[in-house]
Formats: sequence, structure tokens, C-alpha cells
Amino acid sequence: MRTGRLAPTPSGHLHLGNALAFGAAWISVRNPSRGHDAGGRLLLRIEDLDRGRAREDIAESQRADLRWLGIEWDEEVTPQSQRSYTLEGLDTYQCGCSRATRLSWGCRCRFLPAGARVNGGGWRFRTPEGDVHIEDRARGGLELPPGDDPILMRANGEAAYPLAVVVDDARDGVTEVVRGADLLDATAVQVRLHEALSLPIPEYLHVPLILGKDGRKLSKSHGSTELRALRAAGWTAEQIWAMLLPLIGASPPFASARIDLLRVHRGPVTLPF
Ligand code: GLU
Repeated sequence: MRTGRLAPTPSGHLHLGNALAFGAAWISVRNPSRGHDAGGRLLLRIEDLDRGRAREDIAESQRADLRWLGIEWDEEVTPQSQRSYTLEGLDTYQCGCSRATRLSWGCRCRFLPAGARVNGGGWRFRTPEGDVHIEDRARGGLELPPGDDPILMRANGEAAYPLAVVVDDARDGVTEVVRGADLLDATAVQVRLHEALSLPIPEYLHVPLILGKDGRKLSKSHGSTELRALRAAGWTAEQIWAMLLPLIGASPPFASARIDLLRVHRGPVTLPF
């Protein structure tokens, strides 16, 4: 069965960028574009692996924001903090080098023979060389550089996002991933991981990244773009959808909106406030 997912990380309140991504994920399952069957299901999976920053009260406020926007899910699956992950079947190496060392080609960990530990650290995926081909439902085929070898498991044994998301999308039977274009690079890594683990590769759709009026990615410093702040300032969900839906070629009302894959904006969009 076609299965989508909402996968919020409960370390910050949902903002307009999250609203667009989660709204598009909902529409994609509920009001499918041409060529897709109706009748899919949508899961909610709380991605609370980062125990230092993830908070249940934020997860609860995210659920409330989603409901306020009209984004309902069929089932909430086990949160990531209650699942276990293994590196079995993956070509990994241990590396405790800093980002700066890796960026300046000062790290040799990737090339050391298995078992040769230098400076401890987390386990990285030895990403196969060469560009990664990904298929995006709106952008078509893309060749992306694989990027730096991602950490899959921290030194303390906690799984990191790239491993967890790939394994969980497969475990949860996810067939389509809809998320912000800021995760295109992550998609390249994840496709490689799906391949390495012989797991089915979901369909991808990347929706435009929304930037604050300072031109930066939305974060805690853009509190006024958080849904709860907009709601407190008198915005209605209808007004939010009237602003966001055109970015994916859809028109209000949200409940019957349909994504027009040819009209999904490619570039990032800057908010006027
Ligand atoms: N938890 C991730 C985030 O909030 C999900 C990204 C994804 O959709 O894979 O950034």
C-alpha cells in the first residue's frame, strides 16, 4: 500500500517550512497526483534520537500544530528513541576527526584497514565513490555528489539520523518520502544506504525550502515563523495554506488540494516577514 510519513524531530516547534513539507506529504497520500492510486496511508514517526534535545512536550505541540493545519495521520508508529539499530551489513569505519580536519583532507580514517582504531569516534558509512542518481517526482532524475561519509552511529552506540531514517522507512513500509529541498543531499546518502542494505528505495518529492526574510534557513531565531506564533498573532490555517499551496502548484482549500508536479517551485522561497 502506498505509505507516506510525517517525521518531525521534536527539538524545535514547527515553522512554515515544516508546514509546507508535512502538508505536501499529506496531500500526496490523500489527494494523489495523476498516475498515483488513491487510498494510501500516512504515518507519524517522532524522530527523537537526539536525547539531549528531543522533548515530549515539543512533540505534543507538533501534533497539535499538525491537527490545527488539518494534517491528520492514520497511525503513530514507534518513536525512534524506542527502536534499535545495527551496523550489520554496512561498510563502516570509526572516525573521531573534526569537521575541519575532514574538510581539509586531513582525515585518513576511511583508508585504514578494518579494526585499526586511531582516535575512536563514531562510525561512518564508507560511501561508494561516484555521483548518486536520484529520482525526484518534480525535478526528474538528478546526479548528486555523495558528500562526506555520514556518521551512522555515535561513539556511545546511539544511531544517527541517516541510518535510522533509512532503516525505519523500510521497517514502516514507507513508499514515498516528501520533504524539504534542504534534504536533497541527505537523499543522495540515503539512496546509497538503501542500496547497501538492499532495501527498497522510496519515491522522493522535495518541496521548496522556505527562508526567513534574512535569507537564512528557518530556525529557532525565526520564532515569528513558528506555527504557534502565527496562530497567536491571529493567522488562520486557511491563510497559511493560501500562502503555501501555490509553492507546490496547488490551490486552496487544503482538504482538496492537489500537487501539480510541473509547477512545484525548484528554488528556495524567501518570506517577507
Ligand atoms: N526528522 C527529520 C527532520 O525533521 C526528517 C527528515 C526526513 O523527512 O527524512 O529533519
